Amino acid sequence: MGKESLHVGFIGLGIMGQSMSRNLHRAGFSVTVWNRTASRMEEAKAWGVKTASSPREVAAQSDVVITMVGDTPDVREVVEGPEGVLAGARDGLILIDMSTISPEATRQMAAQAAAEGVRMLDAPVSGGDVGAREGTLSIMVGGEEETLEQVKPLLKAMGKNLVHCGPIGAGQTVKACNQIMCGLNLLGMVEALSFAKKAGVDLETMIEVTTQGAAGSWALTNLAPRVIKGDLDPGFSVRFQQKDLRIVLEEADRMDLPLLGTAQVNQLLRSVQAYGGEEDGTQALVQVMERLGRVQVTPQE
Ligand code: NAP
Repeated sequence: MGKESLHVGFIGLGIMGQSMSRNLHRAGFSVTVWNRTASRMEEAKAWGVKTASSPREVAAQSDVVITMVGDTPDVREVVEGPEGVLAGARDGLILIDMSTISPEATRQMAAQAAAEGVRMLDAPVSGGDVGAREGTLSIMVGGEEETLEQVKPLLKAMGKNLVHCGPIGAGQTVKACNQIMCGLNLLGMVEALSFAKKAGVDLETMIEVTTQGAAGSWALTNLAPRVIKGDLDPGFSVRFQQKDLRIVLEEADRMDLPLLGTAQVNQLLRSVQAYGGEEDGTQALVQVMERLGRVQVTPQE
């Protein structure tokens, strides 16, 4: 099927969805969008995409529907609700959920979708707002390989590293692994900065040399330089990291798997929330270390 004749529906024009739907449009696909807050569709309208009045209407006009909303209940609402995708879907529709949600709920939703003749893939992403804007997201896909083959050109318009991880839910499971490691690398980074500061070594020097060695991580490369400048603005917010760690800890609970480090990061970020830092970037974890250790890592105002 040619790009213009493949009708793609896109639900959720948040920080990520706005850029991702735009990249689909730029790549030549025929795109129809819907967003709960209607004003957010104005910008998309200006690029020339169609808008719809509900997820149900999006589905009725589409061959493939992508959802990029918030948490598990949000996806369930836009997919299974009375005005949801399944209510408007034709036989053969492909549904791709790209939000980060529970693997277990994903499997349940896929079963419900299959009963309506809809094939579902989970395709959560990593790479943040910058990756979404530049079309360089890493995409972790779960579901039937044959279904993935059909939508590959579309996913490639939004990301560059596209990996089939296994059956439905496997993309979300790999994303959960990603979030475990992001959380622990974050904690390692703020602990090392606190240690360095208290011991009196130069923070920039410590970051520079350790970034090149075995301790290197995304958090060290990208977040540590922001921390020492006192920049706590979000690339990825504490609120979203906590959502993702909750998903991880719920799955671990279901599997009887103790995750000691992840649970600790979750509790420490709760302290950031208690002090009003819910919308700060995850690097705000440094403030917990500053309070616990009576050490000032960020510059004093
Ligand atoms: P966001 O800016 O907060 O946008 C969320 C979008 O979902 C908005 O369009 C919102 O609509 C919509 N939404 C939320 N709940 C809804 C509901 N119940 N019904 C209908 N629409 C609903 O979030 P984002 O940063 O784009 O993130 C979207 C997803 O990507 C999340 O699952 C997140 O974990 C994941 N993710 C984000 C990043 C990142 O760096 N931001 C990176 C990787 C993955 P309204 O406009 O009406 O509020």
